[in-house]
Amino acid sequence: MAVKKDNEQSCSFCGRKKRDTQILISGIEGHICENCVQQAQHIIDEELFQKQKKFQFNLPQTVKPIDIKRFLDTYVVGQDDAKKYLSVAVYNHYKRLNQTKNDDVEIEKSNIVMVGQTGTGKTLLARTIAKYLNVPFAIVDATVFTEAGYVGEDVESILSRLLQVCNYDVNAAQHGIIYIDEIDKVARKGDNPSITRDVSGEGVQQAMLKLLEGAEVLVPPQGGRKHPEQKLVKVDTSNILFICGGAFEGIDRIIANRMNQSKVGFKKRNERDKVDDQNFLQYVAPHDLRTFGLIPELIGRLPVLVHLDPLDATTLRAILTEPKNALLKQYKKIFKADGINLSFDEEAIDYIVEKAVEFKLGARGLRSICEAIMNDAMFELPSQQSIKTFNISRDFVEMRMDKMAVSRLKAA
Ligand code: ADP
Repeated sequence: MAVKKDNEQSCSFCGRKKRDTQILISGIEGHICENCVQQAQHIIDEELFQKQKKFQFNLPQTVKPIDIKRFLDTYVVGQDDAKKYLSVAVYNHYKRLNQTKNDDVEIEKSNIVMVGQTGTGKTLLARTIAKYLNVPFAIVDATVFTEAGYVGEDVESILSRLLQVCNYDVNAAQHGIIYIDEIDKVARKGDNPSITRDVSGEGVQQAMLKLLEGAEVLVPPQGGRKHPEQKLVKVDTSNILFICGGAFEGIDRIIANRMNQSKVGFKKRNERDKVDDQNFLQYVAPHDLRTFGLIPELIGRLPVLVHLDPLDATTLRAILTEPKNALLKQYKKIFKADGINLSFDEEAIDYIVEKAVEFKLGARGLRSICEAIMNDAMFELPSQQSIKTFNISRDFVEMRMDKMAVSRLKAA
């Protein structure tokens, strides 16, 4: 008996009959149902993601520290010293990865510690380096390790984050960069100016040592203690570059004290080398980190010590306008997408900077101020077809800022 042709149709991938599908798409040779289309799309997304995420573990021969710094310059304003140190450290890190091991000289790791007020660009620097190098990059916050209490185990979860970033490609992770933020929060109590440190700080520091130095570490791939059943993954940290950052609040006093104690040295300096007492951070030395509460073993594993300068009005202004993805450029792009040419008067920019300085909001505050100023315009203008240009004047900014509760900005 002849069977109706329509009833014979089924998905060539999963075999479901047409009547069991919602949509069955016909091709020259067969059919595909909506479920299989979705699955195929999923596979395509995954594959493309992997392809786009091709990491490179070698620095091209032509790249020199000066090139790394030049790249940093396009995203990060100022912080020249930090950029130079970072560029050299990263450059040497790659030399180390490719060193031949046929003699007794072994290039050691050049892990980095950055000291600078919050919002001065520490994370941005680390992120930009990773972008340049095209290696997996993860940011972790050292404070979570102090809070948890399960010191040893939790520190390993630093590596879980890196594994997740590169989709559990262990080889890629082993060549990655990890930025550990708020490293100052694991300082131990003692001769530290702050008495609010977590007691477990020193334990966390101890646990971090082997990671920083280079060791085979068993890592819970999903991190934390929520999945006790997960199979541990072995990660070798020898080639992972660790960059630590912290505000080290109060360290300027420690530096000032140390420098005062060595007055003899002061006298020998000539006029030109006069101490700049507005920015003591530039004189930071490993010993100051020790006085602050980092253990010597940890400091020893962070041989590159870098300071970041506080941001003055000129720098803040430059941050708003100059970097490749400067905030004001971003707003212009947002408006452009709606066919509106956005412009800012110089005086308007001055006012934004003045307020950021006045309220000590730093670079992060620039964003919250701009959001406060722009929000109504971003809400209304896209639906007003007739508006093709929009200029931000100082008056406009003042008016918007008046409406805005400064306390809200400060909380940003
Ligand atoms: P930190 O890690 O030092 O606390 P971030 O790097 O997270 O600070 O900086 C916060 C934001 O401020 C960044 O996203 C960036 O937009 C801006 N910023 C800070 N410093 C700079 C800088 N020197 N150049 C350009 N942007 C900066």
